[in-house]
Amino acid sequence: MIDTLRLTAEEAKRLLDAREISGAELFAAYAERDDDLHAFLHRCGDPGGDGIPIAIKDVIGTKGIPTTAGSRILENYVPVYDATVVERCKAHGLRILGKTNTDEFAMGSSTENSAFGPTRNPWDPARVPGGSGGGSAAAVAAGLAPWALGSDTGGSIKQPAALCGTVGLRPTYGTVSRFGVVAFASSLDQVGPVAKTVRDCAWLYAVISGRDAHDATTVDVPPVELPDGEDLRGVRIGVPRQLNEAEGIEPGVKAAVDAAIARAAALGAAVEACELPLSVDYGLACYYLIAPAEASANLARYDGVRYGLRSPGADFGEMVMATRRDGFGDEVKRRIMIGTYALSSGYYDAYYGTAQKVRTVIRREHEALFERFDVLVSPTSPTVAFPIGEKAADPLAMYLSDVLTIPSNLAGLPGLSIPCGLSGGLPVGLQLVGPPFSENRLFAVAHVLEQALGFDVVPERLR
Ligand code: GLN
Repeated sequence: MIDTLRLTAEEAKRLLDAREISGAELFAAYAERDDDLHAFLHRCGDPGGDGIPIAIKDVIGTKGIPTTAGSRILENYVPVYDATVVERCKAHGLRILGKTNTDEFAMGSSTENSAFGPTRNPWDPARVPGGSGGGSAAAVAAGLAPWALGSDTGGSIKQPAALCGTVGLRPTYGTVSRFGVVAFASSLDQVGPVAKTVRDCAWLYAVISGRDAHDATTVDVPPVELPDGEDLRGVRIGVPRQLNEAEGIEPGVKAAVDAAIARAAALGAAVEACELPLSVDYGLACYYLIAPAEASANLARYDGVRYGLRSPGADFGEMVMATRRDGFGDEVKRRIMIGTYALSSGYYDAYYGTAQKVRTVIRREHEALFERFDVLVSPTSPTVAFPIGEKAADPLAMYLSDVLTIPSNLAGLPGLSIPCGLSGGLPVGLQLVGPPFSENRLFAVAHVLEQALGFDVVPERLR
């Protein structure tokens, strides 16, 4: 019997190489598990071969496999090509287990905005797995996949990783190709790995990252190093006060993160408090102008002609309106309206232009801290997983789920979330942020902490 709840990709590779299991047995062990959490929107048959299986968030285009982005408007869309990240996974022999659930067009923090119904949290099925990549995080935590790809615009890899007790990396902007990925906010979107361990996360990042001729924002990345250190001597850790004492951080979350920071100091790191005076106060507002503005432009392509759904209408204009009315959910419509307003000629400078300037301030504030620190740490999410329905009717409360992940995203920085403890029986995520292209350093620090903290990634009710 293959214990998919505990099996890491690294261990799976060892078993395959030693011929202790076959590729078919490995794939079947995942494919045959019941998906009672609704982590997947679509599951695939075994394509054969003996690579490691992987789950892919449904905003990432997969040739011949439905790609809906959690939206009715793409319900019947089957891409004719693979996203570059998928092509690279396949080139490494990885086999697609299926497409994971997501908030519609990755807009949300709970997967409740999926047009096909929410995903449930493996630690407590009455709660959300986070979002938008709740499907990928839940699939990994529940043993439905050894690892997965997610996408992160404002926190959609890091926050679900925190809420499901998995490891998630949002890479430096420009290190992973966006070609073939359904666009939300192009200056923020990045694909990244979700895994059970930091080493698996680093390995999958090595598979997908690097320059791609199809995405002019990509660059070559330094060779990825699999971490194996045991102490944190010489590492300078900054603890930004505003990210660690923000209003709304639950006491249990704060306690788990503080304990992890104390552990880092005991392992030899130089830990010091620091300030991000403007980033946290203005990050959310800045994000909710820039992201909807870009989304409103990106989503103009769903016109009933090029992709997916077409609703009948008397003429072309009526058809486009009917298609968008029927195909988009409420949150997507809200973002399109906010974005269109922010970009309209009379308001462009007041809203979008100002937000861009604030974004520069946020980037500089982080740059200044990296003259003194290697890594900044904080909670990933202010709360643990919340009950399904609790925030669904209150967009602002939902937006606040990302108040701690958004500042570094706006600055284009890499961020890694690792589980660091429990609060009320639910996982707490520790966010580690570094300067651009510092993924190797983040992996190294997180790996040492992961070993020291000994968090059991298998949800208690599944042990
Ligand atoms: N929750 C944030 C939003 O709704 C971030 C989503 C994401 O990173 N895709 O925009």
